[in-house]
Amino acid sequence: MATEFIDTARRDPGYREGRTADFMEVEQRLDAPAIKEQASRCIGCGIPFCHGAGCPLENLIPEFNRAVREGRMRDAYLILSETSPFPEFTSRVCPALCEASCCAGLPSDAVTIRQIEYAIIENAFAMGYVEPVIPAVRTGMRVAVIGSGPSGLSAAEELNRRGHEVVVFERNVNFGGLLRYGIPDFKLGKSVVERRLDVMRRAGVQFEGGVEIGSDISAEYLRRKFDAVAVCVGTQVPRGLHPDIPGNSLPGVHFAMDFLSSQNRVISGESSALSISAKDKKVLVIGGGDTGSDCVGTSIRQGAASVTQVEIMPEPPEERHASTPWPDWPYRKRTSSSHMEGCTRLWGVNVKKLDGRAGRVRSATFSLCDWELDALGRPKSFKDRLGSEFKIEADLVLLSMGFTGVEKNGLVEQLGIQIGPRSTLSVDSSFATNMEGVFAGGDAVSGPSLVVRALKSGKDMAACIDNRLKKIIRH
Ligand SMILES: Cc1cc2nc3c(=O)[nH]c(=O)nc-3n(C[C@H](O)[C@H](O)[C@H](O)COP(=O)(O)OP(=O)(O)OC[C@H]3O[C@@H](n4cnc5c(N)ncnc54)[C@H](O)[C@@H]3O)c2cc1C
Repeated sequence: MATEFIDTARRDPGYREGRTADFMEVEQRLDAPAIKEQASRCIGCGIPFCHGAGCPLENLIPEFNRAVREGRMRDAYLILSETSPFPEFTSRVCPALCEASCCAGLPSDAVTIRQIEYAIIENAFAMGYVEPVIPAVRTGMRVAVIGSGPSGLSAAEELNRRGHEVVVFERNVNFGGLLRYGIPDFKLGKSVVERRLDVMRRAGVQFEGGVEIGSDISAEYLRRKFDAVAVCVGTQVPRGLHPDIPGNSLPGVHFAMDFLSSQNRVISGESSALSISAKDKKVLVIGGGDTGSDCVGTSIRQGAASVTQVEIMPEPPEERHASTPWPDWPYRKRTSSSHMEGCTRLWGVNVKKLDGRAGRVRSATFSLCDWELDALGRPKSFKDRLGSEFKIEADLVLLSMGFTGVEKNGLVEQLGIQIGPRSTLSVDSSFATNMEGVFAGGDAVSGPSLVVRALKSGKDMAACIDNRLKKIIRH
């Protein structure tokens, strides 16, 4: 009987020492023998919940783990690339939904699947296994993909494989969407994005940067020139502080994405100087999620005097909460490498006002929240606790409170796409919008989500576009 998942302990390689002195990727990697050993923890699993309940891409995890254990790294790559278009992105930034539903995680610790995925794809690039997939036959059909984030890239890759001519239009100078401009280099080095773009270009995908559809080129023109249009524009509108909160737009108060993208642009050489700097500042990050955590790590690297991250929700439990039993994604506290680098974290606090002096924000006042729980023990509603107000000094406030939907500034109106109640694009089960030949996918449809979900959405949307184009060809 295979008992490696009990006999062999999970190994997490952790993060680099001295990492805050630079912006290079922070995560350390297991060596080849350790990866083989870790993959062996998966073997013997007869009920792989990681496939379906976990990984949105339905990666064949036990299958590639078996190949890794047997030293068949090329096979492992072929199995992985059957379902995943860009494992080099997910193996760096995915929260690893698969690991939360890994069977070994019930009696023991989950298999370190994301580390194994990284080893497979990096070995594949090093060995030259990652080749551009050039279709044998071209269909003569043309598809415009608007937006080059993970959903747009994944759609472009799939459509090109299926023989269609694909042009990706991106309003930024460089491609990758939030992979490029949102996620910091210390999580995902941008050479990794470039390397993939190079493979895609060699496969025949065309990229047009610095082109905003809806202003530089009309959406209608695009519809006339292409047989299908895929809208993959993300949810770019950040949530601001409530307009009633005094001081909400004082100098020194910025959206997280403006701060993060400025740093990414400097590292890539696209800008010569930061437009917002945390150097010597007392930084206050409002919003306790991943974007906020990225602001923490970036502020520390820029030389902030102090960093505090606050969250309105109560502090989650250290371990999986009973309301999210295995194999569900667990509700529990998450501590990132950035948090470990030195920041104060506060939960259950509600911002009441920002105060300024000498033309700049200087502090924020909060009250404590008393949360009422629902029948499952999850936070439901809150009231400010009377007399609990307290102040935090801050001369740089970064708003990281999520995104409120797609931009309504040209493209969406020009195409006449219906918008749903969550301010995202409405599509049917085949990713088709209300406009003939116009499809949509990624965060623009789902709302703010994850790279892995955007990849899956782009890939599935591409299959639906391909179906439509095949019908046109047959007629
Ligand atoms: C700071 C930050 C960190 C994150 N970290 C992680 C993480 O670690 N792990 C994870 O899984 N997920 C993470 N996410 C979420 C993840 O990045 C998104 O879910 C994912 O990028 C969505 O992909 P997308 O292709 O739908 O949209 P996006 O990545 O937003 O790409 C949309 C693209 O469309 C372009 N565009 C918009 N309008 C037009 C137009 N009119 N013409 C031309 N181009 C246009 C935009 O410029 C952009 O490049 C993070 C998000 C943020 C904000």
